Amino acid sequence: LLDALADQAALAIERIQLVADVDRARLAAEADRLRSALLTSISHDLKTPLAAILGAAGTLRDYLDSMTADDRLDLLATIVDESERLHRFIANLLDMTRLESGAMEPNATPHFVGDIAGGALRRGAKILAHHKTEMTVASDLPMVRVDAVLLEQVLFNLLDNAAKYSPESSTITITGRANAYNVFVEVSDEGQGIPPADLERIFDSFYRVRKGDQVRAGTGLGLSICRGFVEAMGGAISAENRSDRCGARFTVQLPIANDIPKLDDLK
Ligand code: ADP
Repeated sequence: LLDALADQAALAIERIQLVADVDRARLAAEADRLRSALLTSISHDLKTPLAAILGAAGTLRDYLDSMTADDRLDLLATIVDESERLHRFIANLLDMTRLESGAMEPNATPHFVGDIAGGALRRGAKILAHHKTEMTVASDLPMVRVDAVLLEQVLFNLLDNAAKYSPESSTITITGRANAYNVFVEVSDEGQGIPPADLERIFDSFYRVRKGDQVRAGTGLGLSICRGFVEAMGGAISAENRSDRCGARFTVQLPIANDIPKLDDLK
């Protein structure tokens, strides 16, 4: 009987190992597939702006003397814009890598979100030049415990998206409100909004709703970086479609800095 049991046990183990091998092979194949999809996507995002830069620089070199000043300026503008895009993409990739390796250690100190939102608006002035912007952040909001550099980057990414995905001359709004535990910063636009099925997935790396849209060039990294940064600071980020009008609204929830006395207590 013991021998029979041992045989059966050996068989069962063999079968489990077989299943495990198949699973492992399937996982390895899936990881390979993901890795090559990622590489394709990254190479495309690097190659497209580089090709534009090379093209513009080559034309400038070959036809410099026969060109009008306007043509030269156009080509130079292409070089600057595409270099900025490349720069932003590489910065995003580095941020992603730092996040994933756990090397991102937020330096969280008490701040007023209004100050940081103001900084993000100033940094985005060029991108937002064709939109109206409104900021309504109450002056008596409690302070939040955040890394100012990371939060400014998050709000900048959200403003950048709002400008990219909403029509010129429409309004982009930043609001700040609070409950007993959190401050909420919202960035709302008047664009097309986000298809409900995509609302959760837009925070995934490289996920884009409007693929191949050349006008609204992007990398699909902005929102995943936002989520990574916000969560590293103990907050949360979510997206919804506005109910009051068309457009998307992104809400960043941040922890209140509890150890900071309220302004009233200081008087
Ligand atoms: P990117 O903008 O570079 O594509 P993101 O991670 O910032 O990457 O955004 C992912 C996707 O979410 C975008 O491709 C876009 O389809 C959608 N999205 C983001 N912000 C908005 C917005 N304000 N309105 C509509 N769609 C948006």
